[in-house]
Amino acid sequence: MSLIERDQKVIWHPYTQMKNAQQPIPIKRGEGVYLFDEDGNKYIDAVSSWWVNIHGHAHPHIAQKVAKQLTELEHVIFAGFTHEPAVQLAERLLPLLPGKQEKVFYTDNGSTAVEVALKMCLQYWSNSGHTKKTKILAFKDAYHGDTFGAMSVSGRSIFTNPFNELLFDVEFIDLPNAGNIENLKSQISNLKSQLCCFIFEPLILGASGMLMYEAKYLDELLAACKANDILTIADEVMTGFGRTGTYFACEQLSNNPDIFCLSKGLTGGTMPLGVTTCNHKIFEAFLSEDKLKTLYHGHSFTANPVACAASLASLDILLAPETLANIKRIENQHQQFFKQIEKHPKVKTIRQTGTIIAIEWQTGDDTSYLNGLRDQLYNYFLNKGIILRPLGNIIYILPPYVISNDDLAYIYNSIQQALEEI
Ligand SMILES: *Cc1c(COP(=O)(O)O)cnc(C)c1O
Repeated sequence: MSLIERDQKVIWHPYTQMKNAQQPIPIKRGEGVYLFDEDGNKYIDAVSSWWVNIHGHAHPHIAQKVAKQLTELEHVIFAGFTHEPAVQLAERLLPLLPGKQEKVFYTDNGSTAVEVALKMCLQYWSNSGHTKKTKILAFKDAYHGDTFGAMSVSGRSIFTNPFNELLFDVEFIDLPNAGNIENLKSQISNLKSQLCCFIFEPLILGASGMLMYEAKYLDELLAACKANDILTIADEVMTGFGRTGTYFACEQLSNNPDIFCLSKGLTGGTMPLGVTTCNHKIFEAFLSEDKLKTLYHGHSFTANPVACAASLASLDILLAPETLANIKRIENQHQQFFKQIEKHPKVKTIRQTGTIIAIEWQTGDDTSYLNGLRDQLYNYFLNKGIILRPLGNIIYILPPYVISNDDLAYIYNSIQQALEEI
């Protein structure tokens, strides 16, 4: 039996209608920005394997550090015990984050990093005796993950429909802009006695279609939250580690959030790990002689040493000057491509922040995720050896930072061709 046949017997793939899904492509190996299938076909991973890969596949430095860690300590319970990779990663990560982030709480992925952030905020208020501050503020089109808490603070969509009744009530607001910012600010101050925290994806809402908004309005929202005693959570699961042109998107703000959620690029995309960091104010609210004020949360693989070692190796590469130069280079290439196609009649909207560029295809009326155009575009690029996974009629490039200008040019040309042909 071929790998595809064996796969189809035993595997249930994510975000996939298994009834009529296209056959999965068996990938044998990765190198840099390329993935190679069983037949030796090469694909440019233009979406960084679901936004996680930042330094390219099978990076030798990460591989070496991971292999070494596996021979020393593969895992240990993290309650009552500690280890060098977890401590060192926290020591190196905290000073990189804007504001004074003081503690790292480890989890397994982006969704659980969000769950912990929400619990920290909710329990912050209950520990402090404010039982009415239980409502969470979030963006209408947000995506914060697929577990129930993370789904609750995400926009209601076709993905959440079967569960909507069970999701807790959230105060949703529109993305801020010049026209609505004053309104949003008064909405926030009117609800201040109930509002526990504001969770947001800074600068870019990823899963809802790479929606971008301006730092200055987010800054105003954060200032309003601060003024009204509402905690703030930056979900940098996607934007973290250089995606937006700075190491963290929140570096582009003057107000700092209380909490950060990180995952995806944390290990360089090598393996799962999540981190929730907080400032002194949050941490202090849990310090007590009263055991009930403890944060009772933990996962079996909390602070897995191998995942921490991968993260440390990824940080080495991220902080090397070449990486920041690569990020700026990709940003420049994107900006030039932007100018070339922005006036094309098939380009409905186009937007770019840092290493991410998104193009919304002009369609008829139906612009939903289920639109057939999505599959057409997906296959078009796959046939050209490019992995672009459109969100409905929105295609975006979100590449590993090692992508060459030649490969970028090839992707841009293919998109221009698609604009003529599809
Ligand atoms: C992907 C994502 C998550 C969820 O992360 P998982 O590791 O897939 O659970 C949360 N927030 C944002 C902004 C994301 O892009």
